[in-house]
Amino acid sequence: MTDCPFCRIVARQSPADVVYEDDAVLAFKDIYPKAPVHLLIVPKRHIASLLDASEADVDTLGRCVLAARRLAETTGYAGKGFRLSVNTGPEGGQVVYHVHFHFTAGRRSRTDV
Ligand code: 5GP
Ligand code: ZN
Repeated sequence: MTDCPFCRIVARQSPADVVYEDDAVLAFKDIYPKAPVHLLIVPKRHIASLLDASEADVDTLGRCVLAARRLAETTGYAGKGFRLSVNTGPEGGQVVYHVHFHFTAGRRSRTDV
């Protein structure tokens, strides 16, 4: 059993509200949403942070971005827009060390950060 909370969700050892899945990517609702729509898009394979990403992860990370496009369409926010962000490291605000893309929508994002 892994200590990583997102690996546990991927393995279905912890519950999550899954909104998208393919062979490389899982997306689920953030447990503490900070926007009207707040989803987390994660590679199924454990990558601790973007600082650990390598050439071998290019396809998987690209598929996370394509999952965001798909989620924009399925949630109805393709027209209004959304934000995709990856917190990295302590000063980047990363708390869970399994790469995840925050997909937030439903309110205007600040443009100065
Ligand atoms: P970070 O600060 O690492 O970029 O973001 C971690 C995010 O994961 C936070 O928004 C937090 O609410 C969310 N989160 C942490 N643990 C869980 C969990 O067990 N389930 C779900 N669905 N979200 C989680
Ligand atoms: Zn993990």
